[in-house]
Amino acid sequence: MKLNFCSLSSGSNGNCYYLGNEFHGILIDAGISATAIRKFLKNLDISMQTIMGVLTTHNHIDHIKGLELLTRKNHLPALTTQKIWKSILTPQMKISPDCIREIPLKQKFHLAGFDIEAFPVCHDAPETIGFHICAGDKKITIVTDLGHICQIATPYIKAANLLVIESNYDEQMLVNGKYPPFLKARIQSDHGHLGNHQTATFLADNINDKLSNICLAHLSKNNNSPEKVLQTLAQTFSERGIILNGHQRISILNRTTPTNMISLIEQTDSL
Ligand SMILES: [Zn+2]
Ligand SMILES: [Zn+2]
Repeated sequence: MKLNFCSLSSGSNGNCYYLGNEFHGILIDAGISATAIRKFLKNLDISMQTIMGVLTTHNHIDHIKGLELLTRKNHLPALTTQKIWKSILTPQMKISPDCIREIPLKQKFHLAGFDIEAFPVCHDAPETIGFHICAGDKKITIVTDLGHICQIATPYIKAANLLVIESNYDEQMLVNGKYPPFLKARIQSDHGHLGNHQTATFLADNINDKLSNICLAHLSKNNNSPEKVLQTLAQTFSERGIILNGHQRISILNRTTPTNMISLIEQTDSL
């Protein structure tokens, strides 16, 4: 079966990712308006009727902006941990109780034909999670906001065939940029975001033949550019003598528009 992944939007302006097959799909985060999500999906020829739920990583507005309307108008369940629900549900963000689904940490659950596991990552929200999603023999890991890659997250990232990982800022641009010192410190901290060198070094240390698609996500508007991300990655890989095999692809996810659909072919065991 064909498995399709597409980023509808990625970055501090809003995050929303789609994963689906010919029958069902899920969204990961609804950080852009519900109208934009519906429009982007329609343009991709994906029916809202096939979307079975929204996995939610944390309570920052660039991940939940469209969640209230999307759950209400399309009656979609939203799934996250009890602690994250506590941080999301405020007088400004009301989600109907019948759309609220609590999920466990580090324990598989099932949605839309996928086996999914949420795992904690280090970020400056009350709790932030990444998702490891299995479909047949294919594994997708999504980690968009994290200050460093902690031991708990590493195995989920290393097991991925398709990896969506943050490469938020160019270290020099951030240091020389206009942000106030407290904000620079916050972004660079262990609970902030991953810089281009951090992500490139982690990838150089952990790249393997199973990893066919690397999607670099959540680029900062003010402190990064797709060119800087690619330059840093190319330089780090070349210093380590790493050459991609012919099947490995690197994509930079657009900040405000959908990226090209990435398809994986899922092999299921035949009885
Ligand atoms: Zn974010
Ligand atoms: Zn965040």
